[in-house]
This record gives sequence, structure tokens and C-alpha cells, in this order.
Amino acid sequence: MSVAAPLLFAFDNSYVRELEGLYEPWQATPAPAPRLLALNEELATELGVDADALRAPDGVAVLVGNTTPDGASPVAQAYAGHQFGGFVPRLGDGRALLLGEVFDVEGRRRDLHLKGSGRTPFARGGDGKAPVGPMLREYAIGEAMHALGIPTTRALAVVATGDHVARDTVLPGAVLTRVAASHVRVGTFQYAAVHNGPTLVRRLADYAIARHHPHAVEAENPYLAFFESVVDAQASLVAGWMLVGFIHGVMNTDNMTISGETIDYGPCAFMDAFDPATVFSSIDHGGRYAYGNQPRIAQRNLARLAETLLPLFHVEADTALAAATDVLQSFPDRYDEYWSRGMHAKLGVADAQRSDGALIDDLLALLHAQSVDFTSCFRSLSSALRGDAAPARLLFAEPSAFDAWADRWRAQLSSQASDPRAIAEAMDRVNPVYIPRNHQMEEALAAASAGDLGPFRRLLDVLSQPFDERPGLELYAAPAPPSFGAYRTFCGT
Ligand code: AMP
Ligand code: MG
Repeated sequence: MSVAAPLLFAFDNSYVRELEGLYEPWQATPAPAPRLLALNEELATELGVDADALRAPDGVAVLVGNTTPDGASPVAQAYAGHQFGGFVPRLGDGRALLLGEVFDVEGRRRDLHLKGSGRTPFARGGDGKAPVGPMLREYAIGEAMHALGIPTTRALAVVATGDHVARDTVLPGAVLTRVAASHVRVGTFQYAAVHNGPTLVRRLADYAIARHHPHAVEAENPYLAFFESVVDAQASLVAGWMLVGFIHGVMNTDNMTISGETIDYGPCAFMDAFDPATVFSSIDHGGRYAYGNQPRIAQRNLARLAETLLPLFHVEADTALAAATDVLQSFPDRYDEYWSRGMHAKLGVADAQRSDGALIDDLLALLHAQSVDFTSCFRSLSSALRGDAAPARLLFAEPSAFDAWADRWRAQLSSQASDPRAIAEAMDRVNPVYIPRNHQMEEALAAASAGDLGPFRRLLDVLSQPFDERPGLELYAAPAPPSFGAYRTFCGT
């Protein structure tokens, strides 16, 4: 560690101040030859930081962990987690550090976090490193999610370390600077409960309430209201994923935030052809985290959170359990409400109450039966409404089934007061043209790993405006060609 850099960020480290027992003070492993690969200027502006200052050597030294800036208090955060259903009492940041918290221009407290910054006391067998490819991938998918309007952690930068990372082959290493509402996870509560007990869980809950769910303080039972608020945030988040065909891939409790932001873009990917059983992760043999299972898994993870909070809900164990169960059982209805609202918007249906209830399920059944690309189909519906059904019909091997569905759909829309052009416009604001297509992403990452960042930057630009069709970008809207084959993603990259 070298001397402190000039002030880039004004840190205020509440996590370290208030949550002793849930972290280990630690320093990043110095990077031998840092080189900035990607800088998120929009996010820098949001944080009130001068992008040029971050690009300068002193700035890059902070982003890669070679300099601890004034006011930062780097720690590896402790957490536990249910991984694929099995409880691991001590996970924690094995290759990451919370640098500290800063206030953005809107006054929101945000974590600055380094990922790939070397081994920590939580590293277990890991090398503490991250390769360039997966860090750029996290950057791009996070930006895509943000542009799609889905709550997410975001990357401020990716800096190549100049170090090598041994995986199947030797790869260049990188550090990703992550910005998050916080890194408090369901697994953080599990760690507090298992290693310390109710006193620390209460402190953590008070912290999380103040930081993420402040309205809960006013409730008769603030901890129960807090739990309810997390349940609702996750129901909304997972519905957001499902509405764009996003598959997280590793919904362990350590990868579920209390804030309701998406975190840890490891084996995630977007689905092409609609199939609820879609799985990309190479280690998810049973399809535990398949697309269609995500709502159920979220609810199960929330049950793990509830278990840690029971003593705070009520002194009587039975009463606490009954209250927790009530809230937990509200998850499916909350999820259905977010999903159905989102799906009706995708179809342009204004009045969900009076809608043909089977419209959504019947369309999805058709997409499944005929292996139709989820994103392309929803986007093509606005053209059909404008009078050109060809783009939609072309997606179906047997378009007559689509025609019959479309007749019912049009009948539904004709009962609405709005002008079809206005409905089509609104649909184009919720049905993206561009999502991170797996083949496009792989191509961009391969070029970046070979030293050419051009395709990655172009992809980022495309993903930054997912709803605006732009001429010349047709290839980015298309699903993978058959030659791309079955896509596989990896954990612990
Ligand atoms: P993940 O499934 O990627 O969220 O990671 C699960 C756990 O493994 C977390 O505790 C990570 O910090 C840890 N981990 C993943 N990769 C590494 C690595 N290369 N070195 C040390 N720890 C790691
Ligand atoms: Mg994780």
C-alpha cells in the first residue's frame, strides 16, 4: 500500500462503525501493472466524482486497490449462506473488500466495493482473484439490468491487474469496483445469527431498517414490517427478472440482498427461446435455479432470513413463527401481482382486472411449444398492433396458433379507450429490443481478452438503450445462431 491519494471520495463508513463482528479489516493485494479497461462515467457522475480523476493513475490506483484513499476503511465482510440448499456457516468476501460508503449526488449512501482484490481471511481455498472476462461480463450485464429498470448493483470500473489467474487456462486478472445500495445479504443475517445470536442480529436489523427500509420503524412491530418490506422488494425484483427472461443462476442466500438489488453476476444469463426449465450454470445439474424456479427459490431464501429474525418478531416462539409464516406466505401473491402487472404492460393491456386471464399463460405456452425467442416475440407485438404481424408470425413455426391468440389479444385491446398507436408506443417502453445476448457477449469478451475492447464498448452502448431500436444494430437484436450451440456459464470464475 502506498500513500493516500488526493480526496476522490468522501467516505462515511457506517457498516464498520456499527457492525463490529461482521467484518475483518483487510487490505487489497497490490496489482503489479494496473490498466483501466472500463470506466462508468455515468455512474461516476452519479457519485459526484470526476471521471477524469478516476482515469488518472492516482484514480486507477484506488480502483484496483493499490491505494487506500483517505477515509476508506477496507474490510472483508462476513456472511454465511445456503449454497444449493446446504448451509455454509462461514463464507464472507473471499476475494473482495468493502472500501467504504459514499453519498451520491442525490444523498443516497452507496457502497464502494472491490471484487478480485486478493485473498482475505474468508478466502478458504480460493486464490482471491478474478479474470478480466467475467468482470467485464458483470459490468455489462449490470448496466443492461440498470437500463432495463431492474434494481442492481453496478460496476464503476474494471481495472486489469497485470497479474495472471489460473483457471482452465491462464487468464489476465482484473478488479471490478462495485457500487451497491449495500452488500448486506440474507447470508449476513445468517452469519450474525449463527456466530453471535440475537443481539447482533438486532443490531444488523436496525442497521438494515435505517439504511433500506426506514418506514418499518413506524410500524407496530418494526422487525416484522422490515421482513415484510424485504419480502416485497424481492417479489418485485424477481418479477423484474422473469419479465425480461433473466436467470440469476446462483440464488444462494449469500447472493440475495436486503436492499432488493440484483447482486453477483456469475453464472447468470438471459433466456432465448422461452422454456421455464432453462438453466445455463454448468454446476446446476438438477435445475434448482432454472428460470421457472426463481420465484419459489426467492421465497425459500426469505424463509432463511425469517429464521434469523424470529426472536425479534416476538418473545413467544409460537407467536413469532405464526407472524413470520403469514408474511412469508404473502410472497406468492405479491410476486403474482408484480408479474401480472408487468406482463399486462408487455401486452399493452391496461385493465388487468377485466382482462382475459389466460392471455398471458396461453402466449407463454405457445412460445414454449414452438421454442420462440422470448424477447423478440414480445417486442414484435407492437408491430402487430401497428398493422404488421409479419415479424411476430415469422417467429413461429406454426403461425396459425399465434394468429388465433392474436385475435383474442386484439379483441382485448379493442375494448380499451386508448389509440392502438399509443398502446404500441407504451409497449415499446417495456419490451426491450436489446438484451445481453449470450453469443454477442462471448464475442465481445473474447475480443477484450485478446486486447480489443471495441466490441465490448459497442455492446455496452447497445445495452444502455434497450428500448430504442437503432438502425444498424439488427444483429444485436437477434438470438444466437444455431451454430452457437448450448450455452454454459460458470460459478466462481
Ligand atoms: P459466489 O458464488 O461467486 O457468490 O461466491 C461464493 C463464495 O466464494 C464467496 O464467499 C466468495 O467470496 C468466494 N469466492 C469465489 N471465488 C473466489 C476466489 N477466487 N477466491 C476466494 N474466494 C472466492
Ligand atoms: Mg456471492
